[in-house]
Amino acid sequence: MGEPLDTFRRPLRDLRVSVTDRCNFRCVYCMPKEVFGKDFQFLPRAEILSFEEIERLVRVFVGLGVQKVRLTGGEPLVRRNIERLVEMLARVSDLDLTLTTNGSLLAGKARALRDAGLKRVTVSLDSLDDEVFKSMNDVDFPVARVLEGMDAAEAAGLAPLKVNMVVKRGLNENSILPMARYFRGTGRILRFIEYMDVGSSNGWRLDDVVSAREIVATIDRELPLEPIEKNYPGEVAERWRYRDGSGEIGVIASVTQAFCADCTRARLSADGSLYTCLFASQGHDLRGLVRGDLTDSQIADAIAAIWTSRDDRYSELRSEETAGLKKIEMSFIGG
Ligand code: SAM
Ligand code: SF4
Ligand code: SF4
Repeated sequence: MGEPLDTFRRPLRDLRVSVTDRCNFRCVYCMPKEVFGKDFQFLPRAEILSFEEIERLVRVFVGLGVQKVRLTGGEPLVRRNIERLVEMLARVSDLDLTLTTNGSLLAGKARALRDAGLKRVTVSLDSLDDEVFKSMNDVDFPVARVLEGMDAAEAAGLAPLKVNMVVKRGLNENSILPMARYFRGTGRILRFIEYMDVGSSNGWRLDDVVSAREIVATIDRELPLEPIEKNYPGEVAERWRYRDGSGEIGVIASVTQAFCADCTRARLSADGSLYTCLFASQGHDLRGLVRGDLTDSQIADAIAAIWTSRDDRYSELRSEETAGLKKIEMSFIGG
């Protein structure tokens, strides 16, 4: 079968696979405690895709044009034996396989992940200031242990490392410059992410967004920057480099500069639903297909049909009103 194009002629190139809806952090912009408290019902085990089911679906997606798979969550490293899934996926030919983590368990897992065939990781870190970071992860987790995780990842050969920092006004905008200074010249690529109105529980307001333009201007005043070309079409981060040659940063302007026109990304939730947009309110059940008696080629046809009818461009249409619509939670489909 040929590679499907959606209604805006966008191919399907990237797949984010959420391997669990659970997390050991309660980041205020993602899994606020008031919603994800003690009584929150996470997915029961039987509803979560097995590693074999994920591998089968990934192979089908690769047949439809997917070149890049990112494992995410929730927190992917809390899924037991995640390195076994990495090993299975690393054997799928021509696949660029990566993982996004909060870094809390990375020091103990980096070597096993590398041995299983993982090449790179992205580690999220929102501040170098313990007080700020703890107020954001909301579980009292210290910065130093995330940095240890990064060191272990590099020592194991998971490089170059990317570092994701979500910027939320009033919380960590004062951490922008310290983070830039700290990571400049280390080979670790810091990427600033505009705070997004994902899900329905983080109480998003446009006023809370620090725009990519503002972030770049803040850094540029002290550490002059110049723009550089994207690595490939569809790359979501806008790239900037320090004029003195000490490395580059990225800014992901999902709110203020929508990049839907190039969006080639699909998301698979831990319970096997396919979402064709980060802001979708509904997924398409693939678990029923893998647990039924369909052949791979029938599953491929079903996914191609979903992709061909895709018309999502939420970020281009975003407004304060759309922000209030019921959407799927970030921790469920992994960002
Ligand atoms: N737990 C892992 C982590 O934090 O890296 C992987 C899953 S997390 C949902 C993936 C990424 O989404 C993280 O870098 C996180 O900071 C980002 N994220 C979560 N909520 C966000 C929001 N409301 N706006 C922008 N980025 C967000
Ligand atoms: Fe967990 Fe990642 Fe969401 Fe933070 S951003 S709550 S670490 S899934
Ligand atoms: Fe892609 Fe939806 Fe984000 Fe637009 S809003 S870039 S279509 S995920």
